[in-house]
Amino acid sequence: MDFVVKGARLIDGSGAVPCQADVAVAGERIVRIGNIEPVAGVPVIDGTGLAVAPGFIDSHTHDDGYLLAHPDMTPKVSQGITTVVTGNCGVSLAPLVRPGVPQPLDLLGPAELFRFATFKQWLDALRDSPAAVNVVPLVGHTTLRVAIMDDTGREANDTEKSAMRGLLSEALEAGAFGVSTGTFYPPAAAATTEEIIDVCGLLRERGGIYATHLRDEADHIVPAINEALEIGRAINATVVFSHHKLAGERNHGRSRETLDMISKAAARQPVCLDCHPYPATSTMLRLDRVRIASRTLITWSTACPEAAGRDFQDLKAEWGLDDEAAFHKLSPAGAIYFLMDPKDVRRIFQHPLTMVGSDGLPFDPHPHPRQWGTFTNVLRTMVREHRLLSFEQAIHRMTGLAARQYGLSDRGFLKEGHYADMVLLDPDTVTDMATFEDPIQLSRGINGVWVNGQRVWNGKEPGGARPGKVLSR
Ligand SMILES: [Zn+2]
Repeated sequence: MDFVVKGARLIDGSGAVPCQADVAVAGERIVRIGNIEPVAGVPVIDGTGLAVAPGFIDSHTHDDGYLLAHPDMTPKVSQGITTVVTGNCGVSLAPLVRPGVPQPLDLLGPAELFRFATFKQWLDALRDSPAAVNVVPLVGHTTLRVAIMDDTGREANDTEKSAMRGLLSEALEAGAFGVSTGTFYPPAAAATTEEIIDVCGLLRERGGIYATHLRDEADHIVPAINEALEIGRAINATVVFSHHKLAGERNHGRSRETLDMISKAAARQPVCLDCHPYPATSTMLRLDRVRIASRTLITWSTACPEAAGRDFQDLKAEWGLDDEAAFHKLSPAGAIYFLMDPKDVRRIFQHPLTMVGSDGLPFDPHPHPRQWGTFTNVLRTMVREHRLLSFEQAIHRMTGLAARQYGLSDRGFLKEGHYADMVLLDPDTVTDMATFEDPIQLSRGINGVWVNGQRVWNGKEPGGARPGKVLSR
């Protein structure tokens, strides 16, 4: 035994009612759970008044490049996250080598990060200089398009599809858990359903994940959901509806309809969804989003860096410009859009297949608070304030449910023999501190975080260890 967490309430990740039990760790694994008497020379971590839970799985991230640039992963470990799913929304860092990348690939970080011609090269870089957290890698269909096509404004031709399949095949061999698409975004918007099925059909034999930022999350969300389900069936993959939302006031309340569709689909094919607890989203600056948002907050702008953190409407008024002219003055840029109904967000959280995904954009100078506060915000708002979920149910969404959906057989639960990915936290006080005004703030009430048996967060700062692994299905 290397250490024992003693006296904490054990939340095992299954959603079961907590019990009182100690946890002993040796090397990378949990070796005993139960009443464990102190052993001379074995450190004891006092968990009195606290809860011990499996480390959180962030089901939706854009951390592909951040893992290499900031391996301590402070925004994540400080809220209890021990595993991140990367390569979402169609955009993965690899395989792509380009001096400049089109939006939205730039959301993954500076252009010099795009230096991996194959998926394996990126995974090897992560293995050579590991981060503090584990990685579940997806490969992005938009990235494949940008790597292969000279003009992404049209459907891929047969030669291009064959080249994309070549890159995808290499990525799957190297260890990608599946693919993601983002047909909402310009470089993939011209991809047809047939193109996606044709390119991603490689999953058919092996199964895997098909995570999708739907073509439309507003007025035309129903056909977009049907398209994703069709693709999932055709390529025999688990459909993950990314950051499920209903955008724009006209669509508020329609989560009743979309969740009903997803529940019915779940009876026929494997599906799940992820969500964060905020009523605002964030991505590249787009006028179509500005126009359906009640408020737009700029997160970054190359031309006007001083605009970060400011309201689009205020900037526009100060400059005496209309929407169009202010958009051009700021672009390329990123923004936060307040366009969801909090009631939809809460309804989506109550769905039994909803996992938690931050969707944070880690390099934004004034990021959406979700990058630093998603998981602790869920525990504060959905559990303590709105009482929508019990503490153990919320933990289940963050751990066991996600582990099952992504096919992680020895993580996501506190069980003897499982990897020691764990978080020690105070259920009564745990809270996010990051806000839209002040988004880079550490959470409170996360006392300790371990990844593969090593401490990566001590309650105040990173533990210094970087034991994260590239996981495999
Ligand atoms: Zn997305």
